[in-house]
Amino acid sequence: MNPEVNEDKSSLYNKVVEGKAQVYFHKTKNEVFYNPIQEFNRDLSISVMNTYSNVNNNKKLKILEALAASGIRSMRYALEIENIEEILANDFDQKAVDLIEENKKLNKVESLVKSNCDDATLLMNSMSRNWKSKFDCIDLDPYGTPAAFLDSAIRAIRSGGLLLITATDAGVLCGNGADTCFTKYGSVSLRTPACHELALRILLQSINSHAARYSKYIVPVLSLSIDFYFRIFVLVYDGQMKAKESINDIGFFHVCPECHTFYQQNYGKTVPTRGNVKFVFDSTSPYDLNKCQNCEGTLKLVGPVWTGKLHDKIFIQHLLKYLNTKTTDDFKTRERMIGMCNLAYEELDNPLYYILDDICSVMHCETPNHNVMRSAIMNCNYQVSYSHCAKNSIKTNAPSEVLWDILKRWVELKPVKEKWMGPEYRLARILKTQPKIQVDFSIRSDCTPESKKNNLLRYQEPPPFWGPGSKPKRKAEDEENSKQQNEKNQKVIEELK
Ligand SMILES: [Zn+2]
Repeated sequence: MNPEVNEDKSSLYNKVVEGKAQVYFHKTKNEVFYNPIQEFNRDLSISVMNTYSNVNNNKKLKILEALAASGIRSMRYALEIENIEEILANDFDQKAVDLIEENKKLNKVESLVKSNCDDATLLMNSMSRNWKSKFDCIDLDPYGTPAAFLDSAIRAIRSGGLLLITATDAGVLCGNGADTCFTKYGSVSLRTPACHELALRILLQSINSHAARYSKYIVPVLSLSIDFYFRIFVLVYDGQMKAKESINDIGFFHVCPECHTFYQQNYGKTVPTRGNVKFVFDSTSPYDLNKCQNCEGTLKLVGPVWTGKLHDKIFIQHLLKYLNTKTTDDFKTRERMIGMCNLAYEELDNPLYYILDDICSVMHCETPNHNVMRSAIMNCNYQVSYSHCAKNSIKTNAPSEVLWDILKRWVELKPVKEKWMGPEYRLARILKTQPKIQVDFSIRSDCTPESKKNNLLRYQEPPPFWGPGSKPKRKAEDEENSKQQNEKNQKVIEELK
């Protein structure tokens, strides 16, 4: 036990109240810190785990918080999840574990929460020996990438268990550092308007690949892009056949860097043969993938990614039912949770999306009202939804040709300025192909989704002080080191004068 903690606590700690928990944080800057922006993440995790327990006959949960820091999650889980068998709050840093012990006393949850000081991967691997030691829920909430913890987490989870994973390395996953993305996740990212959904799909692909090597498979229940990070909830099951079949949910995208059209390519598909279901490799490209079909741009390869479903709609229904029984006293971020879960529920299962302003700027045309565009797609007998990832998104099961044909018809109504029509511009290449379909732009009464009609909090602007926070110590050390280095350099320069 750290002797410091027996002294007057107010001189050492700040006390924060969140949900039903009170939590001490070190006063010293860059020690284990409190990030209020993550309250949404914690509220959502509590709601998802309560729902998970409810749909499994009020199963008592054995939970691991693998990278617990102050233990704020574990305190809240102990106080706010209805069916708890045990919570193990682990951290590599003894100071953090001492703080967890203090927080356990403060919240009177000593009987539910155990603390542990170990490397998370060693702990999870050692707990993977038998069913009893494994966990129903494992929460990975690292600073930055969860990549190093995925393998051991997959091993330490019970069949049917729930993995909760945060990734804050949004830059890497969204295409700034495709090479780093490849080393962490075995997949290449790309900066495109749909990069936030691509990031979720890269993460899911990586989780699936770890699961598959242990003959396990994943079922994503909720995969969200939130502010500056990603949060994924997946069920992990044992099953060799299903693990093999997961190849059906893995593929690539060929993305045009000029007009942002994307072309999906899977490894294969499952076909029924003589009463059995059989997977056939069919990686023949359905397109001429040298050039973009729309603008003749040179395509870029992204992936491999998860092309299967991002969410389980039935689970989301249960989750929304649960949230309806709660108030903003229970969860400060309740309205946002309901808004975002409704968006996820309404989302089409078709991968990726376009951004309306973006495709209109490709066409150099006036941007139609969202409802006009949505109605036009629906009038062509295709479905359309928003993506929870982006405000102005168009997610559709219409092929990209149809979408571009709609815009070509739109510019017939709203002509583009003459100067963009010259042969040196991309638009000339796009307009070379005549639209094949007629388009009805009349507004439909059913073009507005329920979440919008009901005025839910659908897209919350990030708060002004948003950001993942700094990794404790590291940043201060780095700053100190670089300050010292600068001073040394300055001396060398002065001596040389
Ligand atoms: Zn293109």
